[in-house]
Amino acid sequence: MACIQTVLGKVPSDSIGIVDYHDHLITIGGGEEKADKDLRLDNVNYAIDAMLSYKSVGGSMLVDMNPIDCGRQIEMLKQISIQSGIHIVACTGFQRAIYYDPEHWVNKYSVNQIADLIIAEIELGIEINNYNGPLVNRSSAKAGVIKFATHYNCIKPMEMKAIEAACIASIETGAPISTHTERGTMGLEVIDLLKKYGADPAHVILGHVDRNPDLQYHKTMASLGVTLGYDGPSRIKYWPDSVIVNLIKKMCDAGFADNIVLGGDNGRASMWPQYGGGYGHNYIISIFVPKLQEAGIKQDDINKLLIYNPRRQFSFIE
Ligand SMILES: [Zn+2]
Repeated sequence: MACIQTVLGKVPSDSIGIVDYHDHLITIGGGEEKADKDLRLDNVNYAIDAMLSYKSVGGSMLVDMNPIDCGRQIEMLKQISIQSGIHIVACTGFQRAIYYDPEHWVNKYSVNQIADLIIAEIELGIEINNYNGPLVNRSSAKAGVIKFATHYNCIKPMEMKAIEAACIASIETGAPISTHTERGTMGLEVIDLLKKYGADPAHVILGHVDRNPDLQYHKTMASLGVTLGYDGPSRIKYWPDSVIVNLIKKMCDAGFADNIVLGGDNGRASMWPQYGGGYGHNYIISIFVPKLQEAGIKQDDINKLLIYNPRRQFSFIE
């Protein structure tokens, strides 16, 4: 039976409903928050409120994509899941190189040492202090997905190391991979690296690729087996929703409805109504899906994007 590894344990994949494939609930500390205070999400009660609201509009599961040492607070994610009833998947792995100090251990350890640390977070439990020890203190919550990240139009040396370690860990544990691309670039280069390191592109989501809504590029990536993560709805500073609706319509018409997942990526306090900001975690279900329906996209295809594709992508390979 296919299973997804949530912060409260393994659940059968077919028990999961609507999924937000890439989002954020808590960020306290870490390189991103240091770079931009709007990326600090420090209120557990706001996150519980957001998840109760998400559940009230039909949400079932959310994947929190804060990896090692980017403000990840695993015990808080457990509390949010328990108090809201939303299934939460936590991640291991790394953000982009720019968020880690040159002296950070990730820049010193070998690929195999880093892979071992990732594998332990999947099999034994997430390290509560993000491996900033010296003691290792594991949560009962295990990681359910591995993240790696790539820079804008290039891949930095630390990112190359993190990609190889993520592939080793995914092959060893059966855990899925979900990535960060900067502005949707380097997708084809990442697919080449997955193949080089023996990871199956079918077990990988390339994140934020709708920042680069080039139809032919998307068709090429999808035809190579990866799933494409679209999380730009409501982010008008990049593209109006109509651009993403149109991209999804054209991808579905071309037979790629099995290769798309949707997420909110509410990493900024200014995006949450609870912090006095924007639409928050209900936007996809309450505002964006009606736009897909209006554009004539079949409900069967919409259900793939919201439910069936993420169920498959976040399942562990046994
Ligand atoms: Zn994100």
